[in-house]
Amino acid sequence: MRRTLYGPDHEAFRESAREFVNRFVLPRAEELIDRHEIPRDIWLEAGKAGFLGLEIPERFGGMEAGDYRFNAIVAEEFARANMALSSSMGIHSDITVPYIVHLGNEEQRERWLPRCATGELICAIGMTEPSGGSDLANLKTTAVRDGDDWILNGAKTFITNGYNCDLVVVAARTDPSKGAKGISLLVVERGMEGFENGRKLDKVGQPEADTAELFFKDVRVPGKNLLGEEGMGFISMMKLLPQERLGSAVNNVHHAKHILFETLEYSKERKAFGQAIGTMQYNKFLLAELVTKIEVAEAYVDQAVEAHADGKLTAVDAAKAKWWSAQTQSEVLDACVQIHGGYGYMNEYRVARAWKDARVTKIWAGTNEIMKELIGRDLGL
Ligand SMILES: Cc1cc2nc3c(=O)[nH]c(=O)nc-3n(C[C@H](O)[C@H](O)[C@H](O)COP(=O)(O)OP(=O)(O)OC[C@H]3O[C@@H](n4cnc5c(N)ncnc54)[C@H](O)[C@@H]3O)c2cc1C
Repeated sequence: MRRTLYGPDHEAFRESAREFVNRFVLPRAEELIDRHEIPRDIWLEAGKAGFLGLEIPERFGGMEAGDYRFNAIVAEEFARANMALSSSMGIHSDITVPYIVHLGNEEQRERWLPRCATGELICAIGMTEPSGGSDLANLKTTAVRDGDDWILNGAKTFITNGYNCDLVVVAARTDPSKGAKGISLLVVERGMEGFENGRKLDKVGQPEADTAELFFKDVRVPGKNLLGEEGMGFISMMKLLPQERLGSAVNNVHHAKHILFETLEYSKERKAFGQAIGTMQYNKFLLAELVTKIEVAEAYVDQAVEAHADGKLTAVDAAKAKWWSAQTQSEVLDACVQIHGGYGYMNEYRVARAWKDARVTKIWAGTNEIMKELIGRDLGL
């Protein structure tokens, strides 16, 4: 189906994102997997090309695109390389940086944003804890006032960019008596005493991402690193989570779509019983179903992107886009593995890696169950 979301400016921008992936990322695919991280020089190149500063005001060195469609273009093209590139850079520029842009005061924005735009500062966001991620309001990390400072204690886990991050927005309990209203956001910086980045976690997929635990032991965080108002952390996260979920939905659809079209080509070339496997009725129908599923999911997600660009995306519609696209991605990639036969199970094939990379999308940024909980509540249930 013809898409109507993007205009000529977006498509021109897509060319530069595609060129970046082709030039700096794809030729080093194996190196990224071996290193379990996206090397800093790739971050700096992404910064130079403007992909990290789409939400950052021009006066702080960003592009101030003011149109979420540009973020979506980057997500679509980065997902073509692999999910980890898209999620790592997305956590930085599409998720964490907006916290600083929207909640930061002028001094904080000046202090951090220019280096976020260049890739000199890699950002992460720490919400999830070893004791739980879905029940965010019940988080255990604490920050206690000491003069002008905060003393931070606790741990976060599964943190994207966790090993290499220079700056992490940490959700911490600043008032134990107030439940969700007792949570605040603190910016913790590399080098602060008592702040430790744990080892890179050994994940099922996305080996290119340096997902890690973070530990805080009596970290003295200066008062000037409180982001937004004290006690408003939970509300701020709820406001910014729909963009995270939408970005995730864009990734999900386009990651699966790229692999699906590679699988289609494979099905035209691979022969069994003297004919291309794609021309066998079962596979032909299966591919027809998969392409339809992807296009239908893409149409919903495109509409959500448009709504968000107009400032009208609801949290519930973002939740629908997120769980549905994750489910579709999972079904499509599983079928793509099947169409590849034994090769589909070999790590040297992109389809095998994509299948493993995608498993997490039903879990992170709010599980499918939590998305349905939000939707169910909206139905008055
Ligand atoms: C690779 C990766 C990267 C990540 N990156 C980040 C990051 O950068 N920053 C960050 O803060 N977090 C990150 N996360 C954490 C992620 O957001 C959490 O894993 C997720 O929110 C689920 O939390 P949990 O793992 O504690 O599961 P739990 O909350 O323990 O949930 C376990 C199961 O119970 C179900 N469940 C829980 N509550 C309900 C309910 N009310 N109704 C029905 N079912 C329920 C869940 O759906 C799930 O199936 C990442 C995770 C992974 C795997």
